[in-house]
Amino acid sequence: MVANKIADILSVLYQVKEINDKISSHLAKKDALLVNVNKYEEELKKLEEEYADKEEEKKKKHKKQKDLEAQVAKYETDILNLEGSRTSIKTNDEYFKLIEKIDHLKNQKDETELQILTIMEEFEEYQRIFKELETKKNSSVKKINEELSKIKNEIETCDSELGGLYKDKEDNIAELSDKVKQTYLKLEQRYPNDPITFLHDNTCTGCNMSVPPQVQVNIKMAEKLENCQNCGRYLLVKKE
Ligand SMILES: [Zn+2]
Repeated sequence: MVANKIADILSVLYQVKEINDKISSHLAKKDALLVNVNKYEEELKKLEEEYADKEEEKKKKHKKQKDLEAQVAKYETDILNLEGSRTSIKTNDEYFKLIEKIDHLKNQKDETELQILTIMEEFEEYQRIFKELETKKNSSVKKINEELSKIKNEIETCDSELGGLYKDKEDNIAELSDKVKQTYLKLEQRYPNDPITFLHDNTCTGCNMSVPPQVQVNIKMAEKLENCQNCGRYLLVKKE
């Protein structure tokens, strides 16, 4: 049914305004929820990155140990080879040089083995810290994911309510005569949040410009449909 009488049109506009206000507050709520989603997702990313960094350090330490072990093996081979070459020595001088070389390699081997021991000790301590970090990370991730899923549910509810509000608004707008409808739709494009606004303290709440007395009377008497002469929004008087 198309609203033709002023009272009917106004009644529809009041409805639409109420729906628009609800839509605005829903959208604001959804924005705030999305900000929280971003915040939590950033936190998750940071936790994962920190963890990955530590894991990388752990791998590096492990690799260092393997490298040193390979070095020790090489010293051992070299020492064995040198010892094997003893039989082909002809002079005392050559013999002493060989012994010196072998001793030097043995010293280096001992030093490297000490380094390995230190790394192994460090690694053990590191494993302990790493385990702690892992536990802490997992519990944080769990908490954050719980929060995220709560927020995402709220967003879903908000979206479904928004869907209902949009549908409700469409139904109301469909009741307006073509002329009012066209004006409303144009206004909505310009002022998505408040194409319809209230007269308050002699001014239009939309643009804060004062409204001429005669227009105010028309609005208050609900005798004529009025638009703000400055911004064009539909003006209604706030019902007590
Ligand atoms: Zn205005």
